Amino acid sequence: MKTEHQRTALITGANKGIGKEIARQLGQRGFAVFIGARDITKGREAAEELCQQGYEATFIQLDVTDPVSIKNAYGTFSQKAEHLDVLINNAGILEDHGEDILKLNPELLDRTLKSNVTGPIIVTQDFLPFLKKSPTGGRIINVSSGAGALNDMSTYAPAYSISKTALNAVTRQFAGALRSENIAVNCVDPGWVRTDMGGSGASRPVEKGAETIVWLATEASQSETGKFWHDKQECA
Ligand code: NDP
Repeated sequence: MKTEHQRTALITGANKGIGKEIARQLGQRGFAVFIGARDITKGREAAEELCQQGYEATFIQLDVTDPVSIKNAYGTFSQKAEHLDVLINNAGILEDHGEDILKLNPELLDRTLKSNVTGPIIVTQDFLPFLKKSPTGGRIINVSSGAGALNDMSTYAPAYSISKTALNAVTRQFAGALRSENIAVNCVDPGWVRTDMGGSGASRPVEKGAETIVWLATEASQSETGKFWHDKQECA
């Protein structure tokens, strides 16, 4: 069991990309990090890599599209920690490259919404009992995208954009519902980041992509809630 005051964080989709870098930066700040990943081998490898760097990291199998997997992850977490200080809903998919909303495949839209919207909702609902026990006040950060901003929306990837706009709405909904519980809920556009999703031509390294998310998890005022952030600034 963790001691009462050790800070804990659960990051979904933390076996690679921005999620793995968030886990590394939080590990560096003394958090016990829980590496949520749907693939056992990749998740274990990521956790072992962080442990070898001297951080406290534990793998938890978690497929955000599978409510049973989320329940099992809750059970595993409850055997290892007593509270959760930070939940980062980072896992996401982008399958529609250059799709046209006029011909958008509804199955692709359903899959995207299941991963990028329904998943974070269920993970948040299920882990709330642990967030409520955080001695410092819980923090939830949803990893969104500039593609979800209504004032700057391109038509490039409609399913993905719709899912991230919805995730921003989810953020506002939870922020309102959890204000009285002292749980802050925010969403972040990490910018265009060099990962499998962002591609090798993206402008930012993962360190920069994780920066505002880690800031919200550790340094931002607990009173900041219900907002959409980019580079530590609120955006529309
Ligand atoms: P990656 O594709 O590198 O990583 C995505 C992660 O999500 C992987 O660990 C993947 O697991 C995981 N994942 C996908 N589906 C599920 C699922 N059903 N259950 C659990 N894990 C899942 O992408 P990024 O690191 O770039 O993206 C992280 C977040 O940042 C996403 O939400 C993305 O939308 C957002 N973002 C990224 C940008 C960029 O430029 N890279 C820009 C704006 C936002 P697996 O390895 O098993 O596939």
